[in-house]
Amino acid sequence: MLEVEEAQARIISAVEILPSERVPLPECGGRTLRESISSPLDLPRADVSAMDGYAVTAAATNAASPTKPALLRCVGELAAGHQHGFELGVTDCVRVFTGSWLPRGTDAVVMQEDTREAGDLVEVCEAVKPFENVRLKGEDVARGQLVAREGDRIFAGHIGLLGALGLGRVPVSRPPVIGLVSTGDELVEAGQPLSDGQIYESNRAMIAALVVSCGGRTRALPFVRDSLDATRATLAGAFAECDAVITSGGVSVGEHDYVKAAFEEMGGRLDFWKVAMKPGKPFVFGRLERQLLFGLPGNPVSAFVTFLLLVRPALLKMQGANDLALPGHPGVLAEAVRNRGERRHYLRVLVGADGTVRSAGRQASHALSSLAVANGLLAVPPETSWEAGRTVSVLRWEL
Ligand code: AMP
Ligand code: MG
Repeated sequence: MLEVEEAQARIISAVEILPSERVPLPECGGRTLRESISSPLDLPRADVSAMDGYAVTAAATNAASPTKPALLRCVGELAAGHQHGFELGVTDCVRVFTGSWLPRGTDAVVMQEDTREAGDLVEVCEAVKPFENVRLKGEDVARGQLVAREGDRIFAGHIGLLGALGLGRVPVSRPPVIGLVSTGDELVEAGQPLSDGQIYESNRAMIAALVVSCGGRTRALPFVRDSLDATRATLAGAFAECDAVITSGGVSVGEHDYVKAAFEEMGGRLDFWKVAMKPGKPFVFGRLERQLLFGLPGNPVSAFVTFLLLVRPALLKMQGANDLALPGHPGVLAEAVRNRGERRHYLRVLVGADGTVRSAGRQASHALSSLAVANGLLAVPPETSWEAGRTVSVLRWEL
């Protein structure tokens, strides 16, 4: 049986990076950047006012105080977005607003709150130093500075920055298209009545949400009954239009488990089957030329956990991402945990705002109630007991 790290390495080495495309910036959220971007501009582009107030020559305010204000002549107004042709003397000032370019001949801004208007004179009641209340040219981003790296996943903050640089389209990965196939005679669609022995299918929608959170697109295929022919036909249809296919169920050792056999009959090669983890032992990875098969166990929690540990890195790699591992966040155990088994146990946990870590509830691989409240996984090594108070690293996922 493979250790998780070995399984991850084998999967990642089989992944090919998808082509890139230039996409309008507002549509880039969650996509992976495919070229590093250096800034074509200084931000701000020039020295600009950080306040609503008056642009002045700082030296002219040296002795100013509320009782002995400096008297300056206001020669005009410069709103953000406008240009001017003022000729300024040392005791002149210009009415400015946040974002106004600092008029030539001035070097500081006095806040409106520290002034009084007196006709076309302005009383300045506080001294300012050179460049006080001024945002300096290039202080945020200097022209030529690296602002985003190839392989970064783009989130709203990047979009704000790239937008400020005037980038209309950005080179990002095409999203991987992932076929979702659920197997099992017992599965019923929502809205249909349940007969004895049947359950509502839930993995396909759950996995779809996970795929989308990793930047992928999904194609949901009809449920597959537990038969070799039906499984093969559905898999063939899925591989005809997808970069990879994720199945759920039908990968255990039972007589009704047909995913492996159907895939091999189609010409697919099974790379490995079974990973030393709990939940999730029966996990299949296979290749059909350049396309990939991820055969997840049917138990919903096993499907969730194997997706995060074994499928998520592959989907991110397909998009050229730098960071493939689930991020680990430090936390402190609020209660003891114990793994008596021989496989690493991924416990569903709840990390509180104060960093305390406790079990999210029942840990069996079918138990969805705890999955729905968990916000992290805690990997507990085989035959290990940890006391309350221990500092641990919790694996977290994006929503
Ligand atoms: P299997 O891996 O096919 O042996 O299924 C293991 C368990 O997971 C069984 O209790 C199945 O009923 C359940 N299961 C399998 N597929 C799904 C699914 N798509 N949605 C919800 N439960 C499932
Ligand atoms: Mg089944």
